[in-house]
Amino acid sequence: MKIELYGENSYVKEFETQVVTANDRFVAFEQTIFYPGGGGQPCDRGTIHQGEETYKVIQIKKIDGKIIHELDRPLHNTEQAVVMKIDWSWRFQNMRYHTLLHVIAGYLHQHYGALAMSSQIESEHARLELAFPDGKMEKVPFEQLEQLIKNLIAQSHCVQTKTISRIEAEQKEGIIKTIVNLLPTSLSEIRIVQIHDIDEQACGGTHVNNTTEIGNFSVIKIQNKGATKKRIKIRLE
Ligand SMILES: [Zn+2]
Repeated sequence: MKIELYGENSYVKEFETQVVTANDRFVAFEQTIFYPGGGGQPCDRGTIHQGEETYKVIQIKKIDGKIIHELDRPLHNTEQAVVMKIDWSWRFQNMRYHTLLHVIAGYLHQHYGALAMSSQIESEHARLELAFPDGKMEKVPFEQLEQLIKNLIAQSHCVQTKTISRIEAEQKEGIIKTIVNLLPTSLSEIRIVQIHDIDEQACGGTHVNNTTEIGNFSVIKIQNKGATKKRIKIRLE
């Protein structure tokens, strides 16, 4: 049974499940729709409901392969089923930001060989740091980047995910191979996210199904971070 449901369907907002372990306020469930964060994407917010009781989920962490939900107080009953509800407006905003970062990084990789070094999504903006091969950064029309990305998004590209074996992933050339080599060797299966021909990479985050769902955004700042690196700051409208 698949425990982490957010990876298969990022649009499930509510789900009923059972408790597996409960240690004071720290609970693991049979299955979960709560994203524990990672890859620059913050963890979900939401609530756990049991009978008349509502518990706030204040933190979610993956510990030794288990997803541990930190609640605001210990669960009243660990035998009774619970209903999970994620804060959908927070999750959907993070899905939009995260997918937009894929599109920007993918576009700059495809056309200028840029490599995404890190990314971080905050509540009011997101940032992406990219490293360019020698002589490539100067060729990027940064003042037109926002419009170029908006045009790509408007083309209504599907965002598809699939799981492949680690061996298969290691045989792929380019960016996926680089990322897969950095993943823990205990991972035998790798989740691949593909946005048309714009981007294909290993990623465990949550994404929108179609680029049009990203909606409107602005590039709010582009900074130099050394001779071959740029930091791009974006904000969803
Ligand atoms: Zn992703």
